[in-house]
Parts: sequence; structure tokens; C-alpha cells
Amino acid sequence: MATYNPKSSHAEEFICDEEIRESLDYASRNKSNRSLIEGILNKAASLHGLSHKEAAVLLDCDIPEMNQRLFSLAREIKEAFYGNRIVLFAPLYLSNYCVNGCVYCPYHGKNRTIPRRKLSQEEIAAEVRALEDMGHKRLAVEAGEDPVHNPLEYILESIKTIYSTKSGNGSIRRVNVNIAATTVENYRRLHGAGIGTYILFQETYDRKNYEALHPTGPKSDYCYHTEAMDRAQEGGCDDVGCGVLYGLNNYRYELVGQLMHAEHLEARFGVGPHTISVPRLCPADDIDLSDFPNVLPDDIFCKIVAIIRIAAPYTGMIISTRESRKVREKVLGLGISQISGGSRTSVGGYTTPERHDETAQFDVHDLRSLDEVVDWLIGMDHIPSFCTACYREGRTGDRFMSLVKAGKIHHCCTPNALLTLEEYLMDYASPQTRSAGQALIRKEMEKVPEPVRTRALSYLDRIAVGERDFRF
Ligand code: SAM
Repeated sequence: MATYNPKSSHAEEFICDEEIRESLDYASRNKSNRSLIEGILNKAASLHGLSHKEAAVLLDCDIPEMNQRLFSLAREIKEAFYGNRIVLFAPLYLSNYCVNGCVYCPYHGKNRTIPRRKLSQEEIAAEVRALEDMGHKRLAVEAGEDPVHNPLEYILESIKTIYSTKSGNGSIRRVNVNIAATTVENYRRLHGAGIGTYILFQETYDRKNYEALHPTGPKSDYCYHTEAMDRAQEGGCDDVGCGVLYGLNNYRYELVGQLMHAEHLEARFGVGPHTISVPRLCPADDIDLSDFPNVLPDDIFCKIVAIIRIAAPYTGMIISTRESRKVREKVLGLGISQISGGSRTSVGGYTTPERHDETAQFDVHDLRSLDEVVDWLIGMDHIPSFCTACYREGRTGDRFMSLVKAGKIHHCCTPNALLTLEEYLMDYASPQTRSAGQALIRKEMEKVPEPVRTRALSYLDRIAVGERDFRF
């Protein structure tokens, strides 16, 4: 039996099944232990995060006023580290060819009903122009795993195409990549291609469950998949994005596993995950949710978001259009810092929307346009941000995290968010969004400390006359 060791490079030692089960047992024994829970919440309020075991207790906690305090704390911590900024991005699906057998994903190799498609470089450039014309600056590239149809060379060429395609004032300034686990050498090549975050969802941390859900293909190797972020770090990708696909397995097990993974990366590389995504299983072609008994309700989902926020206070949190407007509204205040908008989950879906239903990976619940999403965020007093500055200024990995931990990110993030919002408003927004957005910018600029404010105001004037791409 493996012993828990967060510094180990072996999956079964840093994601230790026995330690997870012990933590869950401890949590259920202490779910009404008021003094223990109070102590955990006080610790969280000091902004230094929580252990996986402490987080497990909060998840089980059945004292209503303690749960209320948890939610308020999540709001305060979100505000302290991320302010009211929400970064926007869109997924770009390159290919749905896949050799894996993931039983929850419509791309699984045995699905004969989904049409297979892979974009040519010309088609990628057309998709990118469509995304730039909406106002996007940040993409998450998605592809199935298929060494013949989607080898790494194809992904690298596609990244080059994306960065070099420009439409009007538009440009993609950060390409995050969500592709299958690979070798250190391939991570080195991805890093060399200038990717932002390397994203890989664990799907489930429970080895038995993982093996049942991934019966065939390279992804069926639990340890190779679970150790991928270590290899990514070794290959120079120091911004990595984790996530569990909630609904596949018992959510209590998954939350503890997720936090152990974060503790491991911090212990081994001195920097935890750059982002944690919280995808939930959706219906899709050939995928019927009634086959998945662990689908979780909205209230638990919100509690999970709040706990991740206070347990890993400086980690970005991402929610996609898998969630409805209503759920997105709830979790925005609880710790989410990035959302997708105007998304298509089909291959070629931005230029050929009619194809959407055929090749879509899953059903999108939030179908609004990017402009509608921006306007909605402004209406709730969030600052929609198209900022990509940290990564372009070399503030990645521990250089980014040390700024966030010191609470200094406000001095550059807020002005950068406001400047990129102004670019969006000038180039792409509807008249209604533009006037609401410019009022928000005036209000938020007042809060920016001097001397940054004076400089930011002068950049705003220059954006108004057509200059672009200022950053702190
Ligand atoms: N092929 C890559 C891999 O294997 O990790 C990643 C790309 S896949 C397009 C991105 C993610 O979509 C998967 O990691 C999975 O969590 C998620 N996904 C798959 N099927 C889904 C479904 N039915 N509902 C919601 N998300 C799903």
C-alpha cells in the first residue's frame, strides 16, 4: 500500500487513496464539530489556504451558519486576490479524431454517429478571424488524442497559425492548450511554441473509477495521466491548469484529490496550479446522463467552488459554457476568475455554426454572444477583462504566484483589465455595451492607485484614437 507523500513524483504516493479515504472519514466524523469548523474558517480567513483534510470537513459541514460564513469568506477572498475582474476566453476545437475510449466523451473512438473533422490551417485561420472579430484575445485549443490525425506537429503548426492570424485590430495574444498527456520533450516543444497554460483535466482521481471510465487507448494509463503536470513542469510549462469532471465519481473524493494534486505541485515545484477548472458532465451525442449516478446538484457544485476558492486562494478558477447563465451568476461571486463566452464546442463551429450540432463535444448551456456576456458582466459590476499581460511580460509560474500571494496583482491587473475592456468596447461592442462599459471604466479607474492611474488614463486616451496593446 502506498504512503502519502506530496513531494513524491509517483501518482499513487501524491494522490494517495488511503489518505483520501481517511480524510473523508475524518470529515464525516467532524461535520458538526463547531469548534473545529470555526478554527478551519479562521485559518482560511488568514488567506493562507487550507489542507485537503480541512477542506473535506467544510464540504461535509452541516451547520447552516458555518456554511453561510464559508460562502461570505469565498466572496471576500475572491475580492482580495482577484478583485471584480473576470477574464474572458473561448475554446477552439481543432479536431475531434480520438483513439481513446472515455465512456463519457462523445469523441470516444467507438462512437460511429459523430462526424469526424480536423481543421486545415486555412480553416483554423478562418476560425481565428471569426473569434477575433467577436473580440476574443485568449483561446483554449482543444483536440482529441490521435497520433495519426492530430500529432504534436499539427498542434504546433496550428498554434503558429493562430498567433500569426490578424483581423482588423484583432489578435490572439494567449493560446492555452488542452490536449492529452504527453512526454517531457513534447511539453518542451509546446512551451517553445509560446503556449499560455497547459490544461489537462484529471477527470477522476479515483484510480478504479478512472480505469473503468477509460477502458482503452493511451489515456487508460492512470499514472501516466496523473503525472502529466509533473512532466509539463519539467518541460518548462510552469502555468498548468487542473480540473475534475464533476459527475463522474463521488464529488467528496474528487475535491480532496484535486486539492492534494495542488499541494503536490506546490511541494514539488514551488507553484501550485495556475488554474483549477470546474467542468460538470453534460449530455452529448451518444452520452446519456442517466448512465452516470454521480451527477451533482447545483447547491453542492456552488459549495465546491467556494471551498476551492478559500483552500487555494491564489489559484485562478475557470467555468465554461457547460453551465447555464443562472449557475454562472451564482459562482461568479464565489471565486470564479475566468469564464468562456460565445463558445462553440464543435470543430469549425465559429465559421460554420450549422455544423455545431453534428460535431459538438457537449451541449453548451450558455448560448449568449460574447457581447451579451460582456454586457451581463458589466451589469453585475464585474470588469470583463481581455488581459493577457502577465504571460507576455514573463510573469508566469512562481513569478506570477508570488505577486498574487503578496496581493500586488491589483496594481497591474485592474488597469490592464480596464485597458483591454476599453479596446473591446471601441472595436467590437454594441452601443449599449459600450456606454455601460465606459461608465464602469470611469468608476473603476478612480480606485487605481497613483502613479499607475495617471499612466492608465493617458493610455485610455491613446486607445480612443486608435492605438492598441498597452500593458502594465
Ligand atoms: N483530449 C484531451 C484529453 O484527453 O484530456 C482533452 C480535450 S477534451 C476536448 C476536454 C475535456 O472535455 C475533457 O478533459 C473532459 O473533461 C471534458 N468532457 C468530455 N466529455 C464531456 C461531457 N460529456 N460533458 C462535459 N465535459 C466533457
